[in-house]
Amino acid sequence: MKILEDRIKQDGRVLGEDVLKVDNFLNHQVDPELMQALGEEFARLFADEKVDKVLTVESSGIAPAVFAALALHVPMVFARKKKSITLSAESYVADVYSFTKQETNHVMIDKRFLHEGERVLLIDDFLANGQAVTGLMEIAEAAQAEVIGVGIVVEKTFQKGRAMLDDQGVHVESLARIAAFENGQVVFAD
Ligand code: 5GP
Repeated sequence: MKILEDRIKQDGRVLGEDVLKVDNFLNHQVDPELMQALGEEFARLFADEKVDKVLTVESSGIAPAVFAALALHVPMVFARKKKSITLSAESYVADVYSFTKQETNHVMIDKRFLHEGERVLLIDDFLANGQAVTGLMEIAEAAQAEVIGVGIVVEKTFQKGRAMLDDQGVHVESLARIAAFENGQVVFAD
């Protein structure tokens, strides 16, 4: 998606070998007009699917997810992160290892907000090794909800998440695909 790639080129900063900082438009300061455009693009890409609900993980998935949900006219639910959790009968829980923070969080969704048979679209800001998406898929499975697809704002094709989801036959749509970081510059895949 050209406006997203242009924005990454303009405002993204490469940290080390494999992290892109986008905190001035996506996950700290948020550009709502860009988020709205991303949300509309997700709705277009998944237009052939009936979607009942959009799921994401707090906090950085919330902005794109809420605009995708707005464009699809469905609710958005975000999994809450907890450092430690006492298993509760009222929620679905999964472990997610954070690529950027290098720690494991438990993520949970209250059972009141996810139901058997619901068709859910998973949205996240980044796809790296696929841990966050896997956690949401585990939660959906526990609820007997059906994951109809995964929408990603920025996919890093050189990490293993995309290949893993492709192997599982998951429909993944990424709005920007990064093939590499070279000398502090972003190299896009397409
Ligand atoms: P994964 O679970 O696929 O390994 O990593 C995805 C999660 O880690 C996303 O929810 C995102 O918050 C974070 N993440 C992964 N790579 C990056 C990155 O390059 N930049 C930023 N800002 N976050 C990332």
